[in-house]
Amino acid sequence: MGLSEDAGASIARAAACTPLHSCEPMEASESVDLLLAFLRERDVPCPACGYNLRNLTRPQCPECRKELVLAVGLKKPRFGWFLVTITPGLFSGIAAVLLLMPIIIVPLLGGGPAPWRVVAVDAFGWLSGFAVLVLLNYRFVFLRQPQAAQRTCAVVAWGIHLIVLLGLIALSLL
Ligand SMILES: [Zn+2]
Repeated sequence: MGLSEDAGASIARAAACTPLHSCEPMEASESVDLLLAFLRERDVPCPACGYNLRNLTRPQCPECRKELVLAVGLKKPRFGWFLVTITPGLFSGIAAVLLLMPIIIVPLLGGGPAPWRVVAVDAFGWLSGFAVLVLLNYRFVFLRQPQAAQRTCAVVAWGIHLIVLLGLIALSLL
């Protein structure tokens, strides 16, 4: 009975492994076997300490004792445009947090309310920082886009920030 249940489970798992549905996680021991087989007669440095993992017998680096797992990596990771796109928002968000302090503290010390321009800059910074959080959440959607579309996003992000910056400079000169 036990055997047929196992067979049934295997068939069920095989049936679930269509290209549209991801398979169940590989059995841990199976994954370890594949890792050790990969490292047999192969010079691979430990990702943590660089120790040569050739002929490893258990899924742990003998040098730094870090647990090792089998993983799939990209031949050429392309995060370039993503990083370029989030950079202005990242700095704006950090600046917005810092700018909030004088906006709150100066009126408390009797210095009067912050000028509306400063509040507007801070609001833009928060909005921009929030946009970065949304982008980080949907990073895989971004990374799936063609390079040209990713470049356009980067240009738009930088364009918006430069326009706002130039607008502020123009306003402060008035
Ligand atoms: Zn190591």
